Amino acid sequence: MTQLSVPLLDLKEQYRAIREEIREAMDRVCDAQAFILGKEVEDFEKACAKYCRTKYAVGVSSGTDALIIALLAAGVKAGDEVITSPYTFFATASSIARIGARPVFVDIEEKSFNIDPSAIAKKITTKTKAIMPVHLYGQAAQMDEINDLAGKHNLKIIEDACQAIGAEYRGKRSGSLGDFGCFSFFPSKNLGGFGDAGLVTTNSEADYKLLKALRMHGEVERYHHAYLGGNFRIDALQAAVLRVKLQYLDKWAMKRAQNAQLYRELFNEQGIVVRSNDLDKGSNGVVLPEIVVAGRHVYNQYIIRAQHRNDLLKYLQAQQIGCNIYYPLCLHEQQCFQYLGDKKGDYPVGEKAAQQSLALPIYPELTAEQIKHVVNAITAFYREK
Ligand SMILES: *Cc1c(COP(=O)(O)O)cnc(C)c1O
Repeated sequence: MTQLSVPLLDLKEQYRAIREEIREAMDRVCDAQAFILGKEVEDFEKACAKYCRTKYAVGVSSGTDALIIALLAAGVKAGDEVITSPYTFFATASSIARIGARPVFVDIEEKSFNIDPSAIAKKITTKTKAIMPVHLYGQAAQMDEINDLAGKHNLKIIEDACQAIGAEYRGKRSGSLGDFGCFSFFPSKNLGGFGDAGLVTTNSEADYKLLKALRMHGEVERYHHAYLGGNFRIDALQAAVLRVKLQYLDKWAMKRAQNAQLYRELFNEQGIVVRSNDLDKGSNGVVLPEIVVAGRHVYNQYIIRAQHRNDLLKYLQAQQIGCNIYYPLCLHEQQCFQYLGDKKGDYPVGEKAAQQSLALPIYPELTAEQIKHVVNAITAFYREK
């Protein structure tokens, strides 16, 4: 019997299905030899603003740069504090630190992996300028509570929606839930470019103008610089490719959600789903991801919590089943953030997630057979234990 392999992500499948359309879009840019900003970028920005249900969108060079220019536009300066999650991709906190501000961590909620709004208030000081919630893995953070706090303390909200394009919270789209929404089009994101790209959304016309200036060296008029911006432009080629892909994004998100549903049914059939408390007490099995907020989860990642996580990872990889750990080390434990003074144990929920979480394949083109294969392998692992 040949072994069925299941990659964590297979972008070739997606490309095969839309190859002609993409090639046409790329040819259009190549024929025009117009690579910097211009109509391709404007058209893509308009389509993104419509999709995110915001007034404006500004294409930038990456998700990391989206966070950096949103922080600059929000007026965050050296010495200011920005509250965020310690359990996220590195760029969330590094963007804050890169502009000289201080990332201040607040632990996450166990079920959603997102910042715990009830723990934010005690971290707010006179230096706090903004909150940067992350909609991790494709599910929105508890934005009503976060907006209440921000309103009360006059703070800006910068959503790190890099993994959550199309995610919804009480009927609103990610990117429209704060002052700025930051997106990444890194190839493995739900809307992935052919290289690096990103985007910032906003509903404020003044902020829109500021973001556009910041992306072009702070230029307000040719060779007249009002601000210290940088080169944070999106490539026209990326914009052209991404505009084609954007048309398919909802269909892909639906397939991801269907895959998640199938995982849920199959894991339950196998009887290896355990409760979170029981997992902590040593029960064999897995905890499935939960939809915690009223809204739409877009499953950029499908994250289970697993007993014997590291052994399970090796077991699956040995059978050509793609899986990975997001994230093995919380940000307060990273070497470069030791100067912040946080210690191991300060964010126990995040640290536990780093020990237990495992990403399984969830990409839209997965077949039911492949999903069954993954569930069967995990079931066999626990039967052998
Ligand atoms: C991917 C990602 C980023 C950074 O995006 P890049 O395009 O890789 O710079 C930031 N935050 C989160 C949560 C991400 O997943």
